Amino acid sequence: MKSFDVPVVYRSPLISAIKKKRKEEDRMKKDFSPTLLDFGPIRIFLARHFGFCYGVENAIDIAFKTVEEHQGKRIYLLSEMIHNPYVNRDLKAKGVSFLQDNAGRQIIPFESLTSDDIVLIPAFGTTLEIEEKLRKIGIRIENYDTTCPFVEKVWNRSEVIAKNEYTIVIHGKPNHEETRATFSHAAANAPAVVVKDMKQTQELAKYITGEKPAEQFYTEFACQYSEGFDVTKHLQRLGVVNQTTMLASDTQAIADFLKQTVMRHYELTEDTVRERFADTRDTLCYATNDNQSAVTGMLATEADLAVVVGGYNSSNTSHLVELCEEKLPTYFINNEEKILSAQTIMHYNFHTHQELVTEHYLPAKEPVTVLITSGASCPDALVEGVIKKLAGFYPSSKSIEEIAKQFG
Ligand code: SF4
Repeated sequence: MKSFDVPVVYRSPLISAIKKKRKEEDRMKKDFSPTLLDFGPIRIFLARHFGFCYGVENAIDIAFKTVEEHQGKRIYLLSEMIHNPYVNRDLKAKGVSFLQDNAGRQIIPFESLTSDDIVLIPAFGTTLEIEEKLRKIGIRIENYDTTCPFVEKVWNRSEVIAKNEYTIVIHGKPNHEETRATFSHAAANAPAVVVKDMKQTQELAKYITGEKPAEQFYTEFACQYSEGFDVTKHLQRLGVVNQTTMLASDTQAIADFLKQTVMRHYELTEDTVRERFADTRDTLCYATNDNQSAVTGMLATEADLAVVVGGYNSSNTSHLVELCEEKLPTYFINNEEKILSAQTIMHYNFHTHQELVTEHYLPAKEPVTVLITSGASCPDALVEGVIKKLAGFYPSSKSIEEIAKQFG
């Protein structure tokens, strides 16, 4: 895979060495067992895959190079570069301004831009409408477009589904930048509707079967369907794609549920279901798959707690938290400063969108076993900070240097 120029402050020598060694030993990525960092009184198991993915490194590389090469120019980011507060903060510190917030609300009006300005498109991509607006101003977006190729792959898949005259059902978070971009690209080719979870999918199914009155669809799915969507016609042939960072099992369940609904309603069999349900696999990206499989592999290890590091608004990170929470106490933090002491941790509950404080998160025993992973937009340096902080609570711990020797 292509390698990128990522600021050294985001790297961790320890984690780079671990990743390199694991890659050399397992080139085909078949081994999802975690890596043990045995400090003695605390044993840390690091997931096999975590941290910056292809799309994030590509976006960071382009963004920082653009800033370096265009000193004196006005440089904007359409919205957050990636869902990591530290990377976004660093770009802001270098003079980059954000045009919109995460929900697409305008911070700086497009009208204030000129053709001389640079606008970076984030890794999630953007809508056709915004691309058009920027082009009209004369901004050459193609030079500064960091849209991840794995997001573009979803757009291409939507196009194929559309060509075959299926309506596109997008499993994603309706307000997430990537889902908004995918929806816009999909809706340019076919009717499209977004479902955020199984609950919404079950409600959508009721319009397929006619259990719910058609008119109700337009309020129930407000802002989630394409212009001109006719619920009486456009739910007869379906194809499913998803935001690249959803939980694999959720998308599978949603696609299976819709397929079964269509089969029952139209009395189709496995041989004939293609008449009304496109044969698609999920459109999760490789990083989402690897990171989720690595968490499943990591959870096979008996442990006392899990720590997941990443931006609180990061979709892929919250799904890693979800997987860990099923098995053991899990703390979602965005950096080591949230570990306030050996007794107290401040962490994020993504279900309630609140930060809370938990006491006695580290059990009073030795050795303590901790599982650690991070999201695709989290710098490894932050994970190393967490490892150091936790190990530092145990005076008899081996040093980081001693641990690093095993991987050197
Ligand atoms: S998580 Fe996947 S789709 Fe998103 S930027 Fe990374 S590689 Fe691309």
